[in-house]
Amino acid sequence: MENEIKGLLAAVVHPETGKDIVSDGFIEHIASTANKITIVLRFAKTRDPFAGKIRKQVETILQEHFPQSEILVVIKEGGQPPRPEPKTSTTTGGIAHIIAIASGKGGVGKSTVTANLAVALRNMGFRVGILDADIYGPSQPKMFGVEGYLPDAVQEDGMDRIVPAESMDIKLMSIGFFIKPTDALLWRGAMAVNALKQMIHQTQWGTLDFLLCDLPPGTGDIHLSIIGELKIDSAVIVSTPQQVAVADVVRGVEMFRNPNVDIPIAGIIENMAWFTPEELPDNRYYLFGKGGAQRFAKENDINFLGEIPIVQSIMDGSEEGRPAVGIDTRVEQWYRNIAEQIVEKTVKSSR
Ligand code: ADP
Repeated sequence: MENEIKGLLAAVVHPETGKDIVSDGFIEHIASTANKITIVLRFAKTRDPFAGKIRKQVETILQEHFPQSEILVVIKEGGQPPRPEPKTSTTTGGIAHIIAIASGKGGVGKSTVTANLAVALRNMGFRVGILDADIYGPSQPKMFGVEGYLPDAVQEDGMDRIVPAESMDIKLMSIGFFIKPTDALLWRGAMAVNALKQMIHQTQWGTLDFLLCDLPPGTGDIHLSIIGELKIDSAVIVSTPQQVAVADVVRGVEMFRNPNVDIPIAGIIENMAWFTPEELPDNRYYLFGKGGAQRFAKENDINFLGEIPIVQSIMDGSEEGRPAVGIDTRVEQWYRNIAEQIVEKTVKSSR
């Protein structure tokens, strides 16, 4: 959808520069739901005399092509760059920010959260990649419906590069592309570390605003070697209400805060915080208690990023290879609130 909209808007030319508004970077953000399309146009100049005319053209084109949708065109002024510029100092080159997603235990929804956050960030207009480093249960290929993908190797500037999978505009590299589920045990240890190193340094990521790294659950040598290889800007911890107080989560926090590691924690997300049945969308059942993660966050001086309930569409989305943020507007809203905070914390902490 976003590419289709960009394709249409490439016909709009700024009279002063003679360039089209897409290639000249006027489109800051595109968001679309079943019945609404929102476009944010950023004009470098304040009071650009052509702003009104361009807005009208954008509205007319979109209304013609999407007659069922409400079209909202927002004009922002001032030349602030819409995206963080990629730092060249990371070993991976064109990646501006790397965010690690961690959890104390498996099964709390860390991979589901990673996938949905990636789509939320993409919907905000960022270029996003996922490095699935969960050697115990690499589930990103399934989340994005690319399980059978076999990465190709190509030469780029005389170096070997591995081509990542791509789904929903998100670049994806997973340890799961290289191992069979039955191999998983063998891969613990040195072999996994070597494979991860290669995936980190040789993947053809291109330019990314954010790379989300889905870490294995818990803490261990694997974590330390990933942390040693990647310049991680911030960490996000995922927990369920039952798991939040257990020692594994505390160990995770301590790992990031260890002076030798020293990675800022962007915050904690409480996943499966409550249950809402499809037929009673306003009812919330706090099956495992309420506010546990918030209390934990406060006691440990960690930012609380928000709650995600148990909903059918999230589970279905992971089964069907299309994260729910891409299809369910309620889920998109929950994740967008969280993603906005993570962007703010990460960009701030890596300055
Ligand atoms: P982890 O990566 O922590 O091991 P997963 O992301 O694989 O956990 O999630 C475990 C299971 O829980 C998956 O089947 C997933 O679809 C489901 N799940 C995760 N979060 C939610 C949620 N908020 N609502 C419904 N199902 C969820």
